[in-house]
Amino acid sequence: MLVDCHVHLQPHGEKPPMTRERIAEYLRVAQERGVDAICITEHLFRFEEAYRALYGWWDADQDQRLAGMVARYWKDHVSGSVADYVRVVEAAKSAGLPVYLGLEMDWLPGKSDILREFLAPYDWDVVLGSVHYIGAWGIDDDEFLFEWENRDVAQAWDKYGALMRELAETGLADVLTHPDVVKKFGHRPTDETPLHAAIVEGAASTGAAIELNTNGLRRCKEIFPARPLVERAKAAGLPITLASDAHYPKHVGHAFDEAAAWARRAGYEEASYYVGRKRESYPLK
Ligand SMILES: [Zn+2]
Ligand SMILES: [Zn+2]
Repeated sequence: MLVDCHVHLQPHGEKPPMTRERIAEYLRVAQERGVDAICITEHLFRFEEAYRALYGWWDADQDQRLAGMVARYWKDHVSGSVADYVRVVEAAKSAGLPVYLGLEMDWLPGKSDILREFLAPYDWDVVLGSVHYIGAWGIDDDEFLFEWENRDVAQAWDKYGALMRELAETGLADVLTHPDVVKKFGHRPTDETPLHAAIVEGAASTGAAIELNTNGLRRCKEIFPARPLVERAKAAGLPITLASDAHYPKHVGHAFDEAAAWARRAGYEEASYYVGRKRESYPLK
């Protein structure tokens, strides 16, 4: 058994229709790679309901340049309604396709009520929680790369860690996704332990899973998260999920052998996935 717990139907900068045919393309690759099921976890900011409810959150940042960039990014990414998305994935499920209904939810401080309301009407299998922003700074987005020059790396990591902890403590997310994505462009402090501690303590407060995300290999030659974090998660008794963070069919199940080896070296013997927000586990090969 192998489940890819983090798959997007739309690449950034593109809006192919989210259809049963599109899902089938992902499942073809899954089958080739021995992945038994995929969880479709489209970004929160793809949906007009989220855009309307959260519009302007970026203005809390004093930096108008960054705020303006996020405003444009969110506007450009809206591609349809969450109700339609849920219908398509649920129809695929009902037709017997091995897919689960998920969402990748951005953590936006102070917005937990709106996020909770957004989630409420639907029967999610899983909610992934992400931190992509410190204020209006998109820390893992190439367009915002210049901002790293204006920041102290250790401080940025501290802020990112505090946001991950906050996200975990809300209990809104079942899984903390790409947990150390802040390393994506290679800005790493001498001591990464404080970040690892913040994430694991946060996750332990609600039992959230730690995601092993192979997009890290494509982006910065190291799985998200670094192995010391995986070891710390293991010591805290936290579950893990395996994820490609595919934005194209070709990425489904990418480097899952490496992710499983990463997990096993940290002492894990099983991985998890979620059905109706209940955790299920399977042995790692
Ligand atoms: Zn993400
Ligand atoms: Zn993602």
